[in-house]
Amino acid sequence: MAAYASAAHSKQTPMKYPIENKTVAIVGGGPGGLTLARILQMNGVDVKVYERDITRTARVQGATLNLNEESGLLALHKANLMEQFKAAYRPGAEKMAFVDKNANVVIEDFGGGNLQEERPEIDRGPLRELLLDSLQEGTVTWYCQFDSLERVDGQVKLNFKNGQSHTADVVVAADGANSKIRPYITPLKPAYSGVTIVEGTIYDVESAIPRLHQLLDGGKICVLSDSKTLFIVLKGDGSAAFYSGHKADESWARDSGIDFSDNAQVVQWFKSEFEGWDEMWIELFEKAASFVVRPQYCAPLDQTWEALPDLTMLGDSAHVMPPYAGEGVNMAMQDALELAECLLSTDIADTRSAIAAYEESMRARVAEVGATTMEFTDIFHSPDAISHFVEFFKTHVN
Ligand SMILES: Cc1cc2nc3c(=O)[nH]c(=O)nc-3n(C[C@H](O)[C@H](O)[C@H](O)COP(=O)(O)OP(=O)(O)OC[C@H]3O[C@@H](n4cnc5c(N)ncnc54)[C@H](O)[C@@H]3O)c2cc1C
Repeated sequence: MAAYASAAHSKQTPMKYPIENKTVAIVGGGPGGLTLARILQMNGVDVKVYERDITRTARVQGATLNLNEESGLLALHKANLMEQFKAAYRPGAEKMAFVDKNANVVIEDFGGGNLQEERPEIDRGPLRELLLDSLQEGTVTWYCQFDSLERVDGQVKLNFKNGQSHTADVVVAADGANSKIRPYITPLKPAYSGVTIVEGTIYDVESAIPRLHQLLDGGKICVLSDSKTLFIVLKGDGSAAFYSGHKADESWARDSGIDFSDNAQVVQWFKSEFEGWDEMWIELFEKAASFVVRPQYCAPLDQTWEALPDLTMLGDSAHVMPPYAGEGVNMAMQDALELAECLLSTDIADTRSAIAAYEESMRARVAEVGATTMEFTDIFHSPDAISHFVEFFKTHVN
């Protein structure tokens, strides 16, 4: 990895770096895109973010995320945002109980006492807020859904579904798992992992399901039985995000005929697919506000492509993976840090070399994490997941 030229804009001897006097457009204002915008902007780069959400509050943000010391947290540290993080993170939320389908607790406070320092938790909403607040006004253009791109006069022209077009010297795709920019970089596609998630939100868990609230104890629950999973994560506002996982064909969401916007149909499906599971889990589905179905994909672990001089990608658009190792957001933020370091490096001659250096290191790092993630995905969805899991963590964590 090239040296980080945070002094690129110092008033002393001017030093050249790849992104000097160039404009950067980031498509997608998730944790990856916003972290990159912050680090580039604090180093004087002219950067814009184009986000498809209508406004910053338009969408309920998902679950609580653990930020790891060596990746997500490191990126926040380099972005000078640790104070804001400390004000917004949720001590205690790292607590995780492993439970079976009958709601018997198998491991009470998994992971021991160091998780709060090594993998502190923050809700996705506050993380996005603190990143947005760190940017200069007007950096993010909302309601700008990417549609296509073309090269015009040596620049990349981005065309958006709202009819707007914007140009930049370098474009970074940070548009998540279903990236529309990725195909402009590589034809390689993520492969279906064999597991489909049904994700839900429930408000005010304490009054909706007091027993569940007690079991959550401010943290998370992972239910494992019958080769199926159910994760429930309490958020700071008293709501919870939850997601079931089960093995299904790639086209199950469509072929099942379930209308996932009709809660009654989803509850009906859950009762039959998770037959014999405790009433509390059924109540969770019955009292949910809404559902989204998410077949889980994983980018090829050996993927490679030729670096371009003006276009790259980070986060889920580059390497989507299932959530079972809790690494997705961490990889996205580490990508942002490392890409910024390369684009600002006084040791790298041009943008193509900077992008090549970033992509090579990112692919190697993510191949390892992706392999672990797929191992976890298999263990979680195996018939004797709980005993596997207890054994795995006896040797790997405790
Ligand atoms: C149920 C679930 C639980 C998870 N739990 C964890 C966890 O505990 N820990 C963890 O590390 N990771 C977890 N993940 C994964 C994590 O959420 C992602 O890896 C992470 O959000 C990736 O960040 P990103 O910035 O690359 O993409 P995203 O967060 O997906 O952000 C992409 C952004 O781009 C915008 N966008 C999309 N398309 C366009 C377009 N065409 N034009 C403009 N904007 C666009 C989107 O609106 C969004 O704001 C979980 C994922 C799921 C689905």
